[in-house]
Order: sequence, then C-alpha cells, then structure tokens
Amino acid sequence: MQTTDPIIRRARLRGAGNGQVVDIAVSAGRIAQIAPGLPDRASQEIDAGHNLVTPSFVNPHMHLCKVFTLPMMSEAALLAYQQAGMSGAAAAIELASEIKKSYRASWIENNARRAVALAALYGTTHLRAFADVDTKARLEAVKALLAIREEFSGIVELQVVAFAQDGIVKEPGADRLMEQAVALGADVVGGIPWIERTHADMQSHVDFCFDLAVANGKDVSMLLDDAGDGNLRTLEMMARAAVKRGWQGRALAHHCRAMSAYPEPYLRNLIALLREARIAVVSNPHTGPLHARLPELRAAGITVCLGQDDISDAYYPYGRNNMLEVAFLASHLLWMMSRNDMETLYDMITVNPAAALNIGDFGLRVGAPANIVVLDQPSISETLRFHGEPRAVISRGRLVDLHRMRELAAVRGA
Ligand SMILES: [Zn+2]
Repeated sequence: MQTTDPIIRRARLRGAGNGQVVDIAVSAGRIAQIAPGLPDRASQEIDAGHNLVTPSFVNPHMHLCKVFTLPMMSEAALLAYQQAGMSGAAAAIELASEIKKSYRASWIENNARRAVALAALYGTTHLRAFADVDTKARLEAVKALLAIREEFSGIVELQVVAFAQDGIVKEPGADRLMEQAVALGADVVGGIPWIERTHADMQSHVDFCFDLAVANGKDVSMLLDDAGDGNLRTLEMMARAAVKRGWQGRALAHHCRAMSAYPEPYLRNLIALLREARIAVVSNPHTGPLHARLPELRAAGITVCLGQDDISDAYYPYGRNNMLEVAFLASHLLWMMSRNDMETLYDMITVNPAAALNIGDFGLRVGAPANIVVLDQPSISETLRFHGEPRAVISRGRLVDLHRMRELAAVRGA
C-alpha cells in the first residue's frame, strides 16, 4: 500500500539496546505503527540510519517579543542584570523595559518569525511564548505573537502568554490591558509577582492573575523569585492560590532562583505544597547564576523542565531556540553528566514540558499525535554532544520543510 504520510525507517528508540531498530508509520497526523520492517511504502520515506528517533522538543519558556533586541539595549541594562548574586535583577528589568516605548507589532513579528523558524529547525514543535503587556508595550507584543501563532500553526504550536512583565499594582493600567490581551486570544495568563514592592502587592498580583485565568479557563505561568534573595516567597503564594481556586495542574512556575537560598525546613514544606498544587517548575540555568533546586524537586516527584528563556536580548546575548543546546548547557551548569542525568535532561526538553504545558497526548507511541524528531546520532550522549539540527522533524504528522525554516531563520549571516 502507498501512503502520502511519512514513514521513518531504521529508527532507534530511546532505551532500545543492541542496535535494534524499528519503522514508524504515520497516518492522519498520528503514529499508526511502530514495528521492524513495515511493508507499506510512503512517498516520504525517511531513513533514520540507525539513529535516535524521539518525541519532538518542547520549549516551555521563551520571551518571544524580546528576541534579537540586544542591539537596542544599553550596556547599563546588561550590566545591571549580571551583577553579583542577581541583586540588580529588578533594576535590570526596569532599564530593559525602556525599549518597549518603541514596541510595534510589525518589527516584533519579524524577529519572532526568525526565532520560531529556528525552533522548528532544531526540532521544537511546541513553545510557550511570553508577550509583555504593560502601558509601554501596550498590546503590540500580544498582537505580534498571536499573528505568529497563526502563521506557524501545524509547524510550531505556540501558547501565547499575556505577561505583566512590569507588574500589576506598580503598573497602573496593566490590569485592563491584561484583560484585553486575554480577550484578543492569549492562551495563558502570565505574572511576575516578585517584581511588586510589598508582600501585599505581590499577593494582589497573584490573585489578579488567577482570577483572570479562572474566569477565562486559562492556564497560569508565572516568573517567580528571580533574584538572589531568600526572602522572596511568591512561589508559595502561587501554589496556595492554585489550591485555593482548584487550579491544580494549571499553574506553571518559572525560574524560582531564590529557592537556592531557602532554608531546608522551608524548602521541604514548599515542595509538599507544590505537590498538592501539581505545579511543575521550569529552570533556565544558562540565563542566570542561581538555580531552582532541581534534584530535591525531582526526588519529590515534581515535574521539572528546561526553557530557552531568551535569545539575544538584555538578559542573554546568545541562544538559537535549540533545546538540545539548552540541555547541553544545563548538563554543565547543573553538573548532570551521568547516563541517568542525560536521560533526565532529555526528558526535561520533551515529555516533561509537554506535561507541564498540558499539551495532552504526547510521546512516541501508537495512537499519539506524530510529533517526532529524527536525530543524527545513535544515542542520547552523542545527541547532547553535538546538539545540532535533526535530520527530520515531523509536526502533527507532517514533515517540516527545514529548508524553508532555515530561510525564515536567516541562519546564514544571522
Ligand atoms: Zn524568563
């Protein structure tokens, strides 16, 4: 039988020993069969050549409205963020926010298009993208990212986060804009409560975001305690808010770097609360010197993920939207280099963020939507070593045109 759906030949699956390989047939967007030597023929036959084939990559944290804005940033903003112990993180956010006076959907779209094409090129099929919403950015970033979401539909699924980057209480007018952003079609309500000036204001910020999310049936994503200050406790606030409103499993925590300074008894209680609230944690170890306590979180059964966070902006000058590169960097920064560690890192850029983003059915198994990368190496360690482009990327059962993505990403001369 001839089919127009792709068939992957001679694929090595994670955990398969002794060089055993299989064929993977796709039909109507889903994985139809996984077995050695399938007899069907396809017009798109992809030879994996005994290399690894896995679920595609998922990036749960990307400031997509800020990508490629580094040339517009002052050196003062860059230095403020990189001060010792992240003590200047809040000041850096204020300096970096100056750029938003010149936010226009048109140029944000152009930058975001490049970044999302890069994501596809490196095998990412799902991406949670933050769009700043405040009185300077207005709704320009949201409009740009909603347009990019439509443009990449079927290639990279974007979840657009309406993100109150400059606060809710300390940024009068941000609340109405956040409501408008959700009405425009933003998928997720995003907050950053630790940026507020008082404990009470932080609580108001959390409450506002959850009220908006629950009223509209949206998930919540919050950047929490992203500074070297062990007194920051907004992760706990978010967890309590999720439990109080019955929003367990619908709230995702990002950064949480202050956790590195928490006393052990407090951390233990916090982890118990995170379990109750079914909150997953996204860490971006390459964009700051302090990290959430991933070993303790994992040991307690909390889902942990890695994110790209930034590409060429005030907070991080590099980045290619390449989740293998993110995992490679995390391997060093978190000192995770055993075989088990490498498998864990791989989970942290595939199945873990898929669960954290509530994507639904995700994985390399019969019946699941076909979101697949065909890699150029036979093992996880070799894949992390080279962290290059996959041979082929399949998104929702369709082969991604990597040549086109390379053009859109303007990789040459970028
Ligand atoms: Zn971030």
